Formats: sequence, structure tokens, C-alpha cells
Amino acid sequence: MLPRFWRKIKYRYNLIGTKCENCNTYYYPPRNLCPKCRRKSKIVEVKFSGKGEVLSYSVIHEAPENMKDQKPYIVALIKLEEGPIITAQLVCDSSEVKKGMKVKAVFRKCGEEGSAGVIYYCTKFVPENL
Ligand SMILES: [Zn+2]
Repeated sequence: MLPRFWRKIKYRYNLIGTKCENCNTYYYPPRNLCPKCRRKSKIVEVKFSGKGEVLSYSVIHEAPENMKDQKPYIVALIKLEEGPIITAQLVCDSSEVKKGMKVKAVFRKCGEEGSAGVIYYCTKFVPENL
């Protein structure tokens, strides 16, 4: 087992999910049980390549208070090359985004909290050719 600190770092900076080795299905976010195999589930942890394509998207013009400097921003439904579909922010010009666009995961600052200025990072996507 890795020390907790390093486990945290790993989850924060990698796209970690799970895979059921019984039926070869990938899950993101990680699951403890495969809904198809149930008691036959053989769950292992996997790191996704972070590559995927845009299935659909919306351009958000009314940003929440903590994202005002980023508006308009794009929220996309992204199909990872391993199969899972996730919703994430897509960082690119709203005139560039289109369905089927190849994208990749990046870790970007997504907020700062309190006077200590603790910076949080999260998964966002950018066009693959960036
Ligand atoms: Zn399964």
C-alpha cells in the first residue's frame, strides 16, 4: 500500500478508474462492483490514457460565481477511448468545439480556497492537437 499522501496525489493528477477483468468493462468514476458481473466481479484499478472524443457539449454563459472569469465555458460529454463516458469542462474556444473532436485530459487549477490560498486541481479536457 502506498502512503495516503501519495495515493491522494495519484488520484488528483491521473485519471484513475476501474476495470472489471471478468467482462472487460471500464468504469469511471471507479466502482467496487461490476453491475454486470456482480459477485463474479474482478475489479482492478486502471489509469486511463486520458484520450477521448466529444459526444456532445453545451456552452455555458451563466457561470457560477467562482468561474466568472472563465465564462463562457464549455461542458462536454466525453467518451474515453477505453469506453466510459464522463462529463467535464472542455478548455477551448466555443467556436472550435464540435462533435467527434479528439480531446485529451489535462490537470488544471480549478479553484483557490480561503486566505491560505490552497489551490485545487481537477480534470479538464483540451483539444488533442494542443
Ligand atoms: Zn464485469
